[in-house]
Amino acid sequence: MKIEAIFNKIFQTAQHCGYLVYVVGGYVRDLLLHKTGKDIDFVVVGDAMEFADRLKKDLHLRSLVRYPRFGTFMTHYYGYTLEFVHARRESYQRDSRKPVTEQADLYSDLSRRDFTINTLAMDISPQNFGKIIDRYHGQEDLKHKIIRTPLEPSRTFSDDPLRMMRAIRFAATLQFKIDPETFRAIGENHERLKIISQERISDEFNKILMADRPSLGLRMLDETGLLNIFLPEMNVMKGVEQRKKYHHKDVFYHTLEVIDNVAERGAGLNLRLAALFHDIGKPRTKRFDEKAGWTFHGHEVVGERMTGKILHRMKYPAETIHYVQKLVNLHLRPMALVNEQVTDSAIRRLIFSAGDEIDDLMSLCRADITSKDSRKVKKYLGNYDRVVDKIAQVEERDRLRNFQPPVNGNEIMQLFHLKPGPVVGKIKRYIEEAILNGQVANEHDACLQLVLDHKEELLKE
Ligand code: ATP
Ligand code: MG
Repeated sequence: MKIEAIFNKIFQTAQHCGYLVYVVGGYVRDLLLHKTGKDIDFVVVGDAMEFADRLKKDLHLRSLVRYPRFGTFMTHYYGYTLEFVHARRESYQRDSRKPVTEQADLYSDLSRRDFTINTLAMDISPQNFGKIIDRYHGQEDLKHKIIRTPLEPSRTFSDDPLRMMRAIRFAATLQFKIDPETFRAIGENHERLKIISQERISDEFNKILMADRPSLGLRMLDETGLLNIFLPEMNVMKGVEQRKKYHHKDVFYHTLEVIDNVAERGAGLNLRLAALFHDIGKPRTKRFDEKAGWTFHGHEVVGERMTGKILHRMKYPAETIHYVQKLVNLHLRPMALVNEQVTDSAIRRLIFSAGDEIDDLMSLCRADITSKDSRKVKKYLGNYDRVVDKIAQVEERDRLRNFQPPVNGNEIMQLFHLKPGPVVGKIKRYIEEAILNGQVANEHDACLQLVLDHKEELLKE
C-alpha cells in the first residue's frame, strides 16, 4: 500500500473521532532531506487512547501496544512502524516522576520538541496534503544544516538532559553544525547528563559511533564535557608529552582517526568499539625509557581489562564485551608477524586465538596505521597484506578458524577408561599444542595415533 493511502486512512479515522492528526518529527525531517524511512511519528490532537481503539477497528490491526500513562501507542502496518502520541504541553517535570499527559494543541506540542528540525509537522488532510507546518524555522535550519533548540536551549536541556546527546547525535549523523548558543548551553548543562540512565546514554552513543565519521561526534562530546561524564577514561588519552628528543602521539586524536578509518570501510558497531578502546590502556602503562623513549608495555592487557569494566558499566551486552576485549588484547599480534621468517606455528596461534574475529582484527590493524608519511603507510599495509596471505595459506591447510578438537573428551575417556577430570583436560591441551606446533595434522586419526603413542607419558600422574 502506498504511504499516501495509509495517511489518508489515518486521517479519516481521526475525522470520525473529531480529532486532528499530523505526521511529525523524524519522518518529516527525513522526507525534506529526500530520505524515506519506515518509522513514522504522528501527533493526535485529541484522546490518543480512544483514537487507538478506533484505528484498530478501521485498519483491522492485529496488534497495537498502548502506553496509557504516556498517552502513546504503537502499531505496525504494511511494513511501517507507526507511533502516535497525543499533543501535549509539557512532558518533563523536574521534581516529579508523574508523567504529564495534559492535552494541548499542535503548536504547544511542537514547542516542547528537541530541535527545530524535529518540530516540523505535515498536514495529511486531503485538502492540504503534504503542507509543512513550520513554527520554528525548521526548514531554514535544515537548509543551513543547523541543530538548534526551538526554545531557550538551557531550559530545553535542563528539562531533558538526554537531548544534549541527541543534539550531537543528529549533528554527527547528518553532518550538521550545532548552533553556537545551543552548543554553549550543552557545555553549561553537561553535568545534568548524570540523571539519565546509562542505557539511554549508550543508545545515543551507539548512534554517534555509527555515523559516517564518528570523530565528528566524539569531538563534540569531548568539547562539551559530556564524554567525561560517561567515559572519563578517554579524557586522559589526550595530550602529547615530550622528553629529550622523544614525543609520543596524542592517543586521543589517534583513536579518533582509527575509528574513522574502520567506519570508512563500513565497520559494524562492535568493530568501531574495538577501535575506540584499542589503546585505552596506554595512559596507565606509559613509561619513559632513557634509551627507547616512550613505551606502553602491556597496554593491550591493561586495555582488555579496562574495556571489560567500562563496557560493563555502559551496559553493553556480554557478546559485545567479549568481542571488544578480544580485539583489544590481540591488536598488536599481527604486527609481530610481519617478519619474512615468521613460522607457521606463530600464524596458527594467532588464528587459534582470534577465531572468527581474525578478519576484523586485520581490519583494525590496518586502520591503526595513521602515519602521515605515505611511504610508511604503504610499507605497513604491504606487511599486513603478507600476513593476510600467510593466514590464508595456513588456514587452507589446517582449518583452524573454528577449532574443534579432532579427538574429543568423550573419546579420550573411553580410550583410557578415565572419569571426567584434570587428566582429560591435560590430554586435550596436549593435542592442541601438538597441532599448533605443527607436530601433527588437525585430523582425527593422526591425533588419535599421537595420544596412543604417548599414552604412558600422558597417563603418568
Ligand atoms: P530517528 O528516528 O532517526 O532516531 P527521530 O527524530 O524520529 O529520529 P525519535 O526518537 O524517533 O527521533 O523521536 C521522534 C520525535 O519525537 C523527534 O523528531 C522529536 O520531535 C521528538 N522527540 C524525541 N525525543 C525527544 C526528547 N528527548 N525531547 C524532545 N523531543 C523529543
Ligand atoms: Mg523516529
